[in-house]
Amino acid sequence: MKELQGRDYETQFWHESGHPVLAANPATERLMSTFYSLANGYLGLRGTLEEMPSNASPGFYVAGTYSAAPRRLVPIHPLDHILSHPEYARPEYHAGYEDYELATIPNLPNPVAVRLWVEGERIDLNQADVVTCERLMHLQEARVTRRLVFRDPQWRRTIVDAERFASWANRQLLCWRYEVTPDGHDAPLRVEPYLETAVTNDQDSKLFEIVEEHHEPGLNRVTVQLPKYGPVTISQAYQVRQQGQGLVLDVAVGVSEASPAEADRVAQESLAQGYEALRQAHLEAVRRTYLQSDVKIDADAFTQQGFNFGLMHLEMALPHDNPKTTVAVKGLTGEGYKFAILWDTEFLMFPYYLFTNPRQARNLLLYRYNGLDGARENARKNGCRGAQFPWEAARSGREECTPWLILPNREIHISADIAYAVKLYDDVTGDADFLVDYGAEIVFETARFFATRGTWNREKDGGGAAPRYEYHDVGCPDQYHTTANNDLFINRMARWNLEYAVALAGDERLQGVREKIGLTDEEVAQLRTTAAKVYIPQPNEDGIIEEFDGFFGLSADLRGTSERFCEHTQAVKQPDVVLTFLPFPDEWPEEIQRRNWHFYNARTMHGSSLGMAGMAVAAARIGLTDQSHDFFVRATRADLDSVRPDTELGVHLASYGVLWEAVVLGYAGLYPGPQGLNFRPHMPRQWRTLSFALTWRGCRIKVELSHDRVRIATGADNPRDVPVSVHEGERKPLKPGRAYEFKW
Ligand code: BGC
Repeated sequence: MKELQGRDYETQFWHESGHPVLAANPATERLMSTFYSLANGYLGLRGTLEEMPSNASPGFYVAGTYSAAPRRLVPIHPLDHILSHPEYARPEYHAGYEDYELATIPNLPNPVAVRLWVEGERIDLNQADVVTCERLMHLQEARVTRRLVFRDPQWRRTIVDAERFASWANRQLLCWRYEVTPDGHDAPLRVEPYLETAVTNDQDSKLFEIVEEHHEPGLNRVTVQLPKYGPVTISQAYQVRQQGQGLVLDVAVGVSEASPAEADRVAQESLAQGYEALRQAHLEAVRRTYLQSDVKIDADAFTQQGFNFGLMHLEMALPHDNPKTTVAVKGLTGEGYKFAILWDTEFLMFPYYLFTNPRQARNLLLYRYNGLDGARENARKNGCRGAQFPWEAARSGREECTPWLILPNREIHISADIAYAVKLYDDVTGDADFLVDYGAEIVFETARFFATRGTWNREKDGGGAAPRYEYHDVGCPDQYHTTANNDLFINRMARWNLEYAVALAGDERLQGVREKIGLTDEEVAQLRTTAAKVYIPQPNEDGIIEEFDGFFGLSADLRGTSERFCEHTQAVKQPDVVLTFLPFPDEWPEEIQRRNWHFYNARTMHGSSLGMAGMAVAAARIGLTDQSHDFFVRATRADLDSVRPDTELGVHLASYGVLWEAVVLGYAGLYPGPQGLNFRPHMPRQWRTLSFALTWRGCRIKVELSHDRVRIATGADNPRDVPVSVHEGERKPLKPGRAYEFKW
């Protein structure tokens, strides 16, 4: 427990130290449960206290187990909310969705629950006198420890030391230990783990049926059936031993979707290895994982802590070797957005995964490939060709966004965001088979969608044979303007998607894919013409790009704006124009980008956590390092200082992905391409150094940056040279196992 010294401080946090009252405080417990969430990409456990006080908000989730849930799970938005469907007020519309089922991940029986007796009397944390309750999240170890000191009604003091981790060495395994020590008394103690089945999802929705329960000495097991999904078994193998006057309980929890026998096997065989060995294997897996990103920033302790918290969560959310699912918007830390999968994954988090763990990043794209049929169905329903990926996804490519929100047919950029991730993957990995087997089909089908979703505006561009191609009635990513025409981000991404498809169509290796989906030369020619004619708004005489048609005519009086009172103004929740500069850094001069950054910064209300992180990365790329640093620092604290009001529903994962981008793509200024890596560094003056590792085309690279130099070390086992340039200078091929320094 007394590990909080020196630099350790930066990698751990505790909120409750010395405040016993918080341990059982209903108002904070939901928040605490998010703070102390653990996961390993397959199992996710909220940080509820083992003793399950009455205010506990337990959460135990298995990735990808999207099941049918009743509509009441999601409270409806106010009728005048900017995202609410205008028709929703009409009873007929409402009635149409009475039996509507939503997809979400069920909250399963909680396997980290304990019953504790002192001299035959069961300890109830709500009644006990809590002397200390201190939880610690060990960010570098993805592990939570805890010390609880309480007095029972006889005024005897007892100490509990607990620990838990969701194993990164075995994704079906979760381990915990619970040590009870009498402090100056010799009353007999008893401790027993159990599976807490009295749990529900939000709005008291119970989303499982118990099929079988089994108890024998050393083993508890429950098999549940998830609605329209299948069974899941949770086995809890345990052992209690005497230690001095006290007791130590070790528990290994195994989870299986295949069979109860498998869950038992995982739990029992793990426990037989011994708790210390399990912990060691976990810590070793964590160490290896962090080496893949190895980010160190020379920021103040709080900023580092928030940043490391984010990196830990990005890793905890990543499914391993499982292309049936992907990273949900809040990982497995809470029920916000009912575990939906949004553009956050491909556009905001994907670069992190791609550069640190390309093998798993590939699976994230496979998940989308597996959803192509659903996406084709969406496009068809909306009168388009090709594939339209859903705004919110769950298990398939079907649209899972609640029907009383107006986003599904309007936030159409998601399809291009996914195609963009395919291109990034291809550039960065050079994985030749991926495009042939999966990627090109995604790109062709999304291009088909963009070639049919738009409108030819014959009045523009001369009105002749080549009028302008425009996207009308779209939902801006800014989300404060949900029915606009020609949003810059959407139009630019759509054009890019069309152009990329045309480029790929000429690739010999991809002719089989074209045949498979019937992409003829005539259609490719059509995609080419359409791409060339997609309207891209350009800077006005002040250098400002209009976010969408008519934006400049909206009120500049932003006082009192909210999500129910914003569309008449220039207020934006998050900045689309500034975001567009990220994939298209060279389309407009830096000076234009800077002007737009300032213009839209003044209009960004940060209704989303993406605003601050987005502003940070955009500013870093164009040399506004002070402004960037300011947003960076604030964004790192989004959850830990509860800057965002909804952290109790889960962490703001995408924001952490974008913060990693701020460091690597922003401050280090990495511009990757198929030819190699170029760096345009912009270090914040508040930091002296930063360093990180990444993988490019199977090569490991370690980058260390200071204000006037960058040192790049290449892995000894790298299969090839890595071409690197700095500030567009001469491109140098870096040989394996060497270190190079570039100064400027
Ligand atoms: C943002 C969306 C985002 C969602 C989930 C919203 O506030 O506006 O762009 O996908 O949060 O992070």
